[in-house]
Amino acid sequence: MQILPLARSVVDPAAHRRGDPGLVAALWRDPRTRVLVVHEARLALTDDGTGLDLRAPADLGALTPDAALGAGTREPVWAFLGVHDDVAYLAVLLADLPPTHPGLEGVPGGGPAWDAVRWGTLRDVGHVLSDRDADLATTAVALAEWHQRHPRCTRCGAPTAAAHAGWVRRCPEDGVEEYPRTDPAVIMAVTDARGRILLGHAAHWPPRRFSTLAGFVEPGESLETAVRREVAEETGVVVGDVTYVGSQPWPFPASLMLAFRARAETVELAVDGREVTEARWFTRAELHAAVRDGEVLLPMRTSVALALIEEWYGGPLAYPPAEG
Ligand SMILES: [Zn+2]
Repeated sequence: MQILPLARSVVDPAAHRRGDPGLVAALWRDPRTRVLVVHEARLALTDDGTGLDLRAPADLGALTPDAALGAGTREPVWAFLGVHDDVAYLAVLLADLPPTHPGLEGVPGGGPAWDAVRWGTLRDVGHVLSDRDADLATTAVALAEWHQRHPRCTRCGAPTAAAHAGWVRRCPEDGVEEYPRTDPAVIMAVTDARGRILLGHAAHWPPRRFSTLAGFVEPGESLETAVRREVAEETGVVVGDVTYVGSQPWPFPASLMLAFRARAETVELAVDGREVTEARWFTRAELHAAVRDGEVLLPMRTSVALALIEEWYGGPLAYPPAEG
């Protein structure tokens, strides 16, 4: 399988440096350091939207590791993303900020220095970013989503604080350390003996959107079991052979997508009507025609799903931009 848009690991995470409590402050003082700003999981982008707006510490205005943002505001998390070509990269993860915080530049509406910044989501721009930017952005968004959703200790419920350069949250009451979580999900290109691919339409998707089947791995399951269970539950199709093909992070908010090819042993369809409301078998010619005519909208360019479909198809499939 091709290298997936969000699986381009080129930045050295230099994880051994995270335990240094002075790391962020020291990197902040280094003018070569570059900082990625993430605001509620959106990325600061260059004007043309094809790169990250990575800034030197001096160009971030009031946004410093020591800045107090005021009562009722969740403090920003400073995270060390790693090193690439002798440059260290930090991310500042902003959440819950008031729309016009006095003196704080760097958020939408937060000050003139940042008014013109273009913000975008990793889903929308991941595939057009360089290898370095895609790697930095994927890590930063995954950390941002984790910090946002895990503010409290799982043992006692007390609010926790970021530690280890943004890679740990620690409880001040009992010292419990929480680590970032990743939820495994399987996604599969199911094909039949005639070479057709099985695509489904999920209840919560925009009309006409079709994609590969997918689902979360349940406790006690192997990945192969999860593939067979999801396909059977959603479409009634019995799957035999299952082959692993690749993976990529999908931090919306915390998935790791594990991609498989799966061979169907039956072709009769019986959708569950709840998660999946329609499922269809497509030949290559049928899918090409359906996409061309706008009858089928394919998933976004950053997704594993489109990579699986195009691998089966044998090349790129022209398609109108899809939402969601
Ligand atoms: Zn606790």
